[in-house]
Amino acid sequence: MDKADLVHLQQLDAAHHLHPFNDNAALAKKGTRILTRGEGAYVWDANGNKLLDAFAGLWCVNVGYGRRELGEAASRQMTELAYYNSFFQCTVEPTVLLSAKLAELTPADLNHAFFTNSGSEANDTILRLVRHFWAVQDKPQKNIFIGRHNGYHGTTMAGASLGGMAGMHKQGGLPIPDIHHIDPPFWFADGGDLSPDEYGLVAARRLEQKILELGPDRVAAFIGEPIMGAIGVYIPPVTYWPEIERICRRYDVLLVADEVICGFGRTGEWFGANYFGFTPDVMTLAKGITSGYIPLGAAMFNDRVAGVLKEQGGELAHGCTYSGHPVCTAVALENIRILQEEGIVDRARTGIAPYLAQRWAELGEHPLVGEARIAGMVGALELVPDKRKRAFFEERGRVGMLCRDMALKNGLILRATYDSMLLSPPLIITREQVDELFEKTWKSLNETVAAL
Ligand SMILES: *Cc1c(COP(=O)(O)O)cnc(C)c1O
Repeated sequence: MDKADLVHLQQLDAAHHLHPFNDNAALAKKGTRILTRGEGAYVWDANGNKLLDAFAGLWCVNVGYGRRELGEAASRQMTELAYYNSFFQCTVEPTVLLSAKLAELTPADLNHAFFTNSGSEANDTILRLVRHFWAVQDKPQKNIFIGRHNGYHGTTMAGASLGGMAGMHKQGGLPIPDIHHIDPPFWFADGGDLSPDEYGLVAARRLEQKILELGPDRVAAFIGEPIMGAIGVYIPPVTYWPEIERICRRYDVLLVADEVICGFGRTGEWFGANYFGFTPDVMTLAKGITSGYIPLGAAMFNDRVAGVLKEQGGELAHGCTYSGHPVCTAVALENIRILQEEGIVDRARTGIAPYLAQRWAELGEHPLVGEARIAGMVGALELVPDKRKRAFFEERGRVGMLCRDMALKNGLILRATYDSMLLSPPLIITREQVDELFEKTWKSLNETVAAL
């Protein structure tokens, strides 16, 4: 793109496009970065810069950029039957096949899919249908959802309420009623002198305290990301999820795993629940389900929940025009075929994740890094003022932003949340690209120190 075209686009963007999660006035002054092309683990911007995308777009481009088969699957389906709904006692072939495929891939008896356009809508769906599940069993008061402070479950009214981001709650009158939050499991900041395993139990038992405080007959479900992504890749100790599961079973509280990031191979397992060894009743899916090539979300329900909804639920007064859109489900099927037939998830776990973990640990040696955490293909570097202490910078976020900008200048996309540098590359990243990631990150860390 020549310079004049780029400037023109940036001007139009500043004039007419409101960006999500941006200070739009500041962005308009600076000028938006416009991306033009992607191939494998790389994207190119309109200035011609080649960038190693260590964040897979937004945690989603699991199979990497530029897979023709996905475009071809969309094109075939659009030509054959571009749209039909699943409302009028109808549906379409790829949507049926995807439901069955998801039932096969997800753990245990999570066998029933409800489709949406996004992860946020899938969580709205879960809130409504789970409350309905209890209500039709004569427990309408069992309607409270418990989430976690700083959790992320999307941006719709229910999604943002289930999440625990204070900045989001401030806009638009959230959270909606009957949603409560407990503190997240983050040993680095919160673990004190406990070992991570001891701390995992302490953090999980906050759920038990909250259930007892509210009354078990009031609590419908607990929702959590297996690994908390947006807030900074909080990887809970191995003791956390089994204890959460035990507590949910004990009080008959449904366990909802928001697998929007963890699903489809991010941890080197198909789902975060496989990675941590627990069995949810309900799962949220999006992002990696299509590797981000087209929007799609799904709520997966187990036999118990879906059974009650089917037998006692009557007409489900819920759905989107595009629930089970054939083009989106055809692309998801093709994406899953690629993940399976090319062994991308297995290769991530046994082939590349161990090497990535090794190089990530080396980055942990850098003087600016207080902790290098990683689980499969998702991780974070916690930048700190004093390597010997588990404590944050006084002004949180400045150093992370600086490091992010250094990385960009060096041809590497890392995301910063506060001073955590987040990693979530396409699963197809090669050893050579992991080495490139290491070199560029190390250089960016050095330049950040020099700039401080
Ligand atoms: C991205 C995300 C969502 C929301 O998905 P959208 O498709 O952006 O609506 C929900 N939960 C988690 C854990 C996410 O990372």
